[in-house]
Amino acid sequence: MTRAIAEALAEVRHTITTAALAAHRRADAVRLVAVSKTHGADAVAEAIAAGQRVFGENRVQEAQEKFPALKAAHADLELHLIGPLQTNKAKQAVALFDVIQTVDRESLAEALAKEMAKAGRHPACLIQVNTGEEPQKAGIPPREALAFIERARTLHNLPVSGLMCIPPVDEEPALHFALLREIATKAGLPVLSMGMSGDYASAVRFGATHVRVGTAIFGARPAAAVEGQN
Ligand SMILES: *Cc1c(COP(=O)(O)O)cnc(C)c1O
Repeated sequence: MTRAIAEALAEVRHTITTAALAAHRRADAVRLVAVSKTHGADAVAEAIAAGQRVFGENRVQEAQEKFPALKAAHADLELHLIGPLQTNKAKQAVALFDVIQTVDRESLAEALAKEMAKAGRHPACLIQVNTGEEPQKAGIPPREALAFIERARTLHNLPVSGLMCIPPVDEEPALHFALLREIATKAGLPVLSMGMSGDYASAVRFGATHVRVGTAIFGARPAAAVEGQN
């Protein structure tokens, strides 16, 4: 086992604990989602050996290549989809992932609900909110979020447990974390997925229950592979 991943994980966990305690929160109220996209199964295995159990992937196909064997070997692995999902991949996503963090439109909510009923498997769902209202970014605009959450839960009977956001790169993320928390509070949703390598300590101070950290654990990704589309 390389020491690098184990050491990086320990450092990230320490930063989470420090930020949680400073915010008068329990450290175990924050789940670390280790984002392993573009990194091989060997890197994931190292993280598992260091005690990490929750992983995030942004592409269905890449996750299908890496995770079934790892899941078979470690029954307690938890896999999160953190990238955009095409409706025609809803079936594969429901079969593989334990949490789908990127529900961002009604047709997807409907397709996921249908596949869950068929498969008898019910991954928790998060609604992605486009807190920066960026036209090129996925997610429900903040002012439509409450109505969308309500429809996803009641009309489609989707197991919605929370919200996720990816703040604009050039803005103070804290404003977006605060906005996401405000919407979740209004909707009565307990889960807040926010914060990445550059800002997860701030996200924890603003109430994140899940932080999605890739680079700070596994190192830099090849530039071309960063933005995956399903
Ligand atoms: C890649 C990715 C991350 C992790 O980003 P890092 O900056 O490497 O920590 C988090 N969230 C989403 C949605 C991602 O696509």
